[in-house]
Amino acid sequence: MNKGKKLYEGKAKIIYSTNEKGLVVQHFKDDATAFNAVKKANIEGKGVLNNRISEYLLNSLGQCGIPTHFVKRLNMREQLIKYAEIIPIEFVVRNIAAGSLTERLGISEGTILERPLLEYYYKSDELGDPMVSKEHIYTFEWADRSEVERIDQMSIRINDILQGIFRGVGIQLVDFKIEFGKIWNKEKEINEIVLADEISPDTCRLWDIKTEKKLDKDRFRKDLGGIIEAYQEVARKLNIMPEETNISEVNFGKTTSLKFKKK
Ligand code: C5P
Repeated sequence: MNKGKKLYEGKAKIIYSTNEKGLVVQHFKDDATAFNAVKKANIEGKGVLNNRISEYLLNSLGQCGIPTHFVKRLNMREQLIKYAEIIPIEFVVRNIAAGSLTERLGISEGTILERPLLEYYYKSDELGDPMVSKEHIYTFEWADRSEVERIDQMSIRINDILQGIFRGVGIQLVDFKIEFGKIWNKEKEINEIVLADEISPDTCRLWDIKTEKKLDKDRFRKDLGGIIEAYQEVARKLNIMPEETNISEVNFGKTTSLKFKKK
């Protein structure tokens, strides 16, 4: 497999073409942005950790029957993925009130929600990813009713599986954002919905159950410091990073050879 030209560059990732039909390379950058890219930084090692954590979580979801775009991790920063037509909606699932929910509705941070809350945001940098209703999604044909129904069911299942994975290692899954794409299935002649993008501490809120320490991108958003250490703690708790490894001592150049555990 050969990596080809850059197809798309986002805030945290780059997509490259390959010479294999239907497959592209997803590269994880160290760039961090928040508040619609008003706040920016380069956090050395973040891309490496997100690549590994996302590989682990998408693989685990795949093993539980959730179709995903993930094929395999190629190296420290890159994954081979199936090319999918991304639905322009960010699907947010919340278990505990935090972030924009607390700001918009005045609910105290930490309030446990009786059932998972699903929200939809239109992916648009110019508009600042506004929250939309299902009716907006249908009216503007960003996805149809059967696709949204399928995604809602998948999101609830993904939430159950991820909550189990994180609870098992002492982490509370507060909320997360996921994206879905469509892949044409020639034999069945239908568009299959797959989980796409990434799931990592950049896209989830993760709180240590015992200490309530934030182990996610809120450390960057709220200037709490220790971002890489927190992401590393998530990888260690998930048992995908050797205890002795300290990411700050790793050389991130091409020759680097940090070995993550195979799981
Ligand atoms: O900011 P808000 O509270 O709406 O975020 C909900 C969840 O979605 C958080 O876990 C956040 O990290 C994630 N999110 C994201 N990308 C965005 C917006 C939110 O990953 N553009």
